[in-house]
Amino acid sequence: MTALDDARGLLASLTDAPLAGVWSSAGRANLIGEHTDYNEGYVLPFAIDRRTYAAVSPRADDAIRVASTFDPDPVELPIARLADTFAGEPGAAVRRGDVPEWAAYPLGVAWAALEASGRAPHTVLGLDIAFASDVPVGAGLSSSAAIEGATAFALDELWQLGLEGIQLARIGRTAENEAVGAPTGIMDQVSSMLGRADAATFLDCRSLEHETVELGLAAEDLALLVIDTQVQHAHSTGGYRDRREACERGAALLGVPALRDVAVADLDRARTVMDEVTFRRVRHIVTENQRVLDTVRTLRERGPRAIGELLLASHASMRDDFEISVPELDTAVDAAMSAGAIGARMTGGGFGGAAIALVESAAQDRVTAAVTEAFAAAGFAEPRIFPVTPSAGAGRDL
Ligand code: ADP
Ligand code: MG
Repeated sequence: MTALDDARGLLASLTDAPLAGVWSSAGRANLIGEHTDYNEGYVLPFAIDRRTYAAVSPRADDAIRVASTFDPDPVELPIARLADTFAGEPGAAVRRGDVPEWAAYPLGVAWAALEASGRAPHTVLGLDIAFASDVPVGAGLSSSAAIEGATAFALDELWQLGLEGIQLARIGRTAENEAVGAPTGIMDQVSSMLGRADAATFLDCRSLEHETVELGLAAEDLALLVIDTQVQHAHSTGGYRDRREACERGAALLGVPALRDVAVADLDRARTVMDEVTFRRVRHIVTENQRVLDTVRTLRERGPRAIGELLLASHASMRDDFEISVPELDTAVDAAMSAGAIGARMTGGGFGGAAIALVESAAQDRVTAAVTEAFAAAGFAEPRIFPVTPSAGAGRDL
């Protein structure tokens, strides 16, 4: 059974109404550009071949009901109550806290989609939506953007909202920020929804301009491995906040709106106006932005085999300057490289989570075995290692 079949099966257990369609969106991984998003810089993520599916049927009434294979209880709200629930109107009959957290992702998308399109609740169709997914949750592969994307693309078509891909990505972010209450950027939604097969999405987090950059892994017989360490350190939330503050402090000391506005050539001056730790945080962001630009250019001019050094330099910068790596991630990168990977780096927010490695397709088993052995030798829990294929973003499946 695939996740698509699971979504259809769950829907069939909820309703006898005919299937209106199945839509899906992808998980994502970040090739390079870490912690650059909130500094208004550049990122280069790609959609992966793990997806969340939304199977949808119309309802005769004006309610929206969501169900997931993750949770036995469906959640139902009248469409006219979405604004009360998520816009937090005082005295509202339904509040955000009344919906289980997972349901705030798809119901938040429905609310944000109505707001963004200016459609009145009584003009849209009642729906039953059933979700199933093969995106690992909480591994830094953005299952949240995948459920948002599947919902947003389904509603855009069924409610005839006429929105563009980037608008649907913004709706996903609004749902996550305001309905769920998670302060995330827009990288996840853009890469999940707008990805292309064998390509990455080059996103300018200030202007939201984005371009597809061919990766060309298939033609070169290359593969990408995700090495999920399955560790998440307790200080990750505090560490994230601390790094954001250091970046804001650095930008203020340099008199710029965001570190995006600092060039590598400005770093000598930066060193003279701030303490050593803040300087190293700044240097990571400034050099990482440049590495994203260099990676895009290198991919276009020389192909994927030439980006290994940039991936490694990114990892070293996160380990030494930004100090967000952990021994498990360093071990993953070192063992993958010793076993012949072309490049590797930790990916995601840090303090645990996953690394990615770019390898020859024929070397996947060797690299997997070497990393597994290195973890055992270091006394770490066994990592979960699996290939990911850069894939298409959101769309209709049936
Ligand atoms: P991730 O790195 O996977 O995006 P998040 O914490 O951002 O981690 O999002 C995970 C949350 O998204 C889950 O805890 C759940 O609330 C919601 N979610 C994601 N996928 C699904 C799904 N298929 N069904 C129900 N909820 C989901
Ligand atoms: Mg997420």
